Amino acid sequence: MSYICPICKNNDEKYIGYFNSQPYCRLCLDFQGRKADNNYQVTKDIIFNLEYPLSEKQEKLSKDVYSNLKEGKNVLINAVTGAGKTELIFLSMYEYLKRGLHVGFATPRKDVIIDLFPRFQKAFKNLTIATVYGEHTNKLNADIILLTCHQLYRYPNYFDLLILDEVDAFPYYNNAILHNIFYNSIRKNFVMMSATIDEQLKNEIISNNGVILSLYERYHGGKLIVPKVIKCPYCFMPLIVINLLYKFIKSMKPVFIFAPKIEDGKQLFKLLHLLFKNGEFVSSKEEYRSIFIDKFKNKELDYLVTTSILERGVTVKDLQVIVYMADDEIYNEKTLIQIAGRVGRKSDAKTGEVYFLACEKTRDICSCINTIDGYNKR
Ligand SMILES: [Zn+2]
Repeated sequence: MSYICPICKNNDEKYIGYFNSQPYCRLCLDFQGRKADNNYQVTKDIIFNLEYPLSEKQEKLSKDVYSNLKEGKNVLINAVTGAGKTELIFLSMYEYLKRGLHVGFATPRKDVIIDLFPRFQKAFKNLTIATVYGEHTNKLNADIILLTCHQLYRYPNYFDLLILDEVDAFPYYNNAILHNIFYNSIRKNFVMMSATIDEQLKNEIISNNGVILSLYERYHGGKLIVPKVIKCPYCFMPLIVINLLYKFIKSMKPVFIFAPKIEDGKQLFKLLHLLFKNGEFVSSKEEYRSIFIDKFKNKELDYLVTTSILERGVTVKDLQVIVYMADDEIYNEKTLIQIAGRVGRKSDAKTGEVYFLACEKTRDICSCINTIDGYNKR
């Protein structure tokens, strides 16, 4: 008689413990807590409106997504950075919600949830939206649930439509427990999305009765920004950052400077701060990062030195990007594509600059540039 964990589906004896001769799963000790009410009734009378009209290609793709779901298929959306992924699934969400079905939108990172919440609220004005992450778990039921992958265990067999944004991002990607919890929370269909899908994801969707739908154009029709590489020894790199930052600040452009590790970022910021007072350093360890990010978006700060926590999900008008030590092993092709994808996202600011500072041009730097070039030529 083998025990299967109801949360993560683990049935490996190695990870099953016994308490008062009742089995429990040791892999799921972090995933214990209140569950959502599976009988929650959603509001069916929906006021649905998009703030901006969809582009022709967005419109077509968003209809394709729904027609596949309607046939019982699952969908992997492969859309370039700045394609307007979130808007692509609003139509399907609307169709499910109006039939009284449960809809959720999950992503590996809580910062993305906080960033997306107002957009969902504008699109579905009269619906309740719960945001569920970390310590923010008071309200589990609502018409729409926005949540981190870690919180999906509270929704076993709950979602008729579950969307997983940034499917290839840390900490979801390659995490078997989060993966099982994701599948365990789905009652009907799912949609996964990313700008950087790979063979592994393609195989996963195909083996799950799914299709891949691609969008190679930004919603505003502008090109993706191709990074420029500046080759130089590490000792000169801070000087080049100073030069570029000076140029951008003079032309009043906001700047992200990516550093590979927290220590590298801190050191670089210490130096930059001597010359440019109006900036901050953010990382996953910084308690006040959301305050700094808000200030930056409000143009109260000229620049942010950041680790890869800002590689996805953030949109800032006129943003320019510098990647310090872009040849560090932490930067793979996907990360570099996502980082470069921060630039030129707004329809009234379609251009900008991305600089990779590197001692040598790594294979990942080259493949990032080739991939972006390839998308632009399609
Ligand atoms: Zn388990």
